[in-house]
Amino acid sequence: WKRDPFDPTMADGKFWGRGCGDTKGNLIMQLLAVQAWQRVEGRPPINLKFVVEGEEEVGSPHFASFVHANKEILKADGATIEGGDHLHEGTPKIELGCKGILYVEMVSRTASVDQHSSYAAIAPNPGWRLIHFLTTLRDANGRIKIPGWYEDARRPTARELRYLRASAFSADALKGFWGVKHFIGGENNFELLRRLIYSPTCTICGFVSGYIEEGTKTVNPAVAKAKIDFRLVPNMKKEKQLAKLRDHLKSKGFEDIELRPAPENLEAAAISLAARVVKAAIKGSVDAYGREPEVWPWSAGASAHGFFNEVVGVPSISGPGVSYDGSNYHAPNENIRLTDFIGGSKHMAAMFARM
Ligand SMILES: [Zn+2]
Repeated sequence: WKRDPFDPTMADGKFWGRGCGDTKGNLIMQLLAVQAWQRVEGRPPINLKFVVEGEEEVGSPHFASFVHANKEILKADGATIEGGDHLHEGTPKIELGCKGILYVEMVSRTASVDQHSSYAAIAPNPGWRLIHFLTTLRDANGRIKIPGWYEDARRPTARELRYLRASAFSADALKGFWGVKHFIGGENNFELLRRLIYSPTCTICGFVSGYIEEGTKTVNPAVAKAKIDFRLVPNMKKEKQLAKLRDHLKSKGFEDIELRPAPENLEAAAISLAARVVKAAIKGSVDAYGREPEVWPWSAGASAHGFFNEVVGVPSISGPGVSYDGSNYHAPNENIRLTDFIGGSKHMAAMFARM
């Protein structure tokens, strides 16, 4: 961090601080949209309900039970959920849902205690064991090799692709933000965007075994662990995918590796372009920005859409939002641009009138 993350500051046309983009800024932006209506017209033109949940970053352990217990109170004509943002050049973006997430810890234990590594000629090594299994999950181009993995994945519609073709998405901008030289899947912006949205993923979020501190320690460890996140596109259900992963583990002969799915996994969900809340967000963008927003069929990340769309029956989108693709969520120097913050608030206020 170049500044104290917990002492928010405004500089260079940006607001800097932990959580300003993901996602306190979105909450404040929405309250300011309400306040603007109150100041000018006395009250907003529609009834509003706010659901403020502070545990999203730890997997929302209490949210499912809250939603199930409060379905009646939560009923509405439409919902917006944190997560919409802006592209690098300022175009606002809305998303009509989200990918799901299946997060699984994988543990290989090959002994009850670590051994001197001179015994490695005869003793099994859990790191190699786990690596051999992991290489059966995905190829070098990101294609997941688990049989039937893609079977249920929703395919793009012609109308969705038309919106994506018009996208200002720039892979080069992301490369600049992240210091990445090459993306998986070539150089074409549209193809990369299509991949970002429609491809399920299998990611090694962490891998640990044995000794990785300074100097040498000749050890054959007893345990290796990996944390793997599978992003699922709509129609892929996490329990069904987990069953496919278990079958694959068995068929490849790795039953000794333990799979520990995280309890807080989220389902993918997405609504259609025809929903009223989508139309209101598109018209609101024209009012606030003078142009239509980017419309993505769902976000690359996971969110609470499944609870609203499927449990309560409220069509939900992400956006309007306050951040941009260089906001550094979950990373040092999180920031939002003040123009995006003001734009997001105007977009939200305009959307109220268009609902
Ligand atoms: Zn987050």
